[in-house]
Amino acid sequence: MTGTKAFPDADAAHEAHADAVKVVNPEGRGPFVLFCDHASNFIPAAYGDLGLSAELRAEHIAWDPGALPVALHLSKLLDAPLVAGAVSRLVLDVNRSETSPTLIPEVSEFGPIPGNAGMDAAERERRLKAVHAPFHAACAAVMAARGGQGVIGVAVHTFTPVFKGESRPWQIGILFDRDRKVGDHLISGLGRESGLTVGENQPYGPWDGVYWTLDRHVQASGLPSVMIEIRNDEVRTEERQRAWAERLANLLLSFGQEGRQGRNVATG
Ligand SMILES: [Zn+2]
Repeated sequence: MTGTKAFPDADAAHEAHADAVKVVNPEGRGPFVLFCDHASNFIPAAYGDLGLSAELRAEHIAWDPGALPVALHLSKLLDAPLVAGAVSRLVLDVNRSETSPTLIPEVSEFGPIPGNAGMDAAERERRLKAVHAPFHAACAAVMAARGGQGVIGVAVHTFTPVFKGESRPWQIGILFDRDRKVGDHLISGLGRESGLTVGENQPYGPWDGVYWTLDRHVQASGLPSVMIEIRNDEVRTEERQRAWAERLANLLLSFGQEGRQGRNVATG
């Protein structure tokens, strides 16, 4: 590392809020910035176990299993900053607006979350300050350090193979909102590989509120973005996590190269 820190704000955000968010490779120079909202199922001691068994706290209701290792590989392969949530979405889902009814869920796919029942306004405010604010401050700092230019936002998530009894056929879903350029590039690239069923805005889409972090930090500034949802049975081993990251990095880099060759990816 040189003596001059290119992204002092990002470093400061990381150090000040190390418990709620991790910023990896804040000085990455590639065109991408990575977000992994649901990277961790960690529940801080103050919240106990939220009344859930260890088995349930390891389930997809608590986090996106496999998403962080894929995002870490991508961060290296793309030389990209990565902002990763470090607290379970059972405590608070950072990929939701401050006023969303699903910000702090009282019920999951598997039933009530006792520790979240009947929460008062003060406790909601406490969690917003402890978890939501630091995560989004770190996202904002990383984006600000890039000067609001030449950035393509990529969110990395995983989804459960079976939801409420319904099997999901897609090994991967590519989600996009108003700007579909990056999404189309990934969908057509993945579509050329045999044996893959690629979901387009599946298993859910921006209308479900899942695009919130990307919208707030990337799309709202007119920058291109895409959300990658990998079915979590695809990334249960280190080998598969690396393979998916390499496949996605190659496709993302080919999009980035097209941008540098003339397409203005910064302003869409
Ligand atoms: Zn997620």
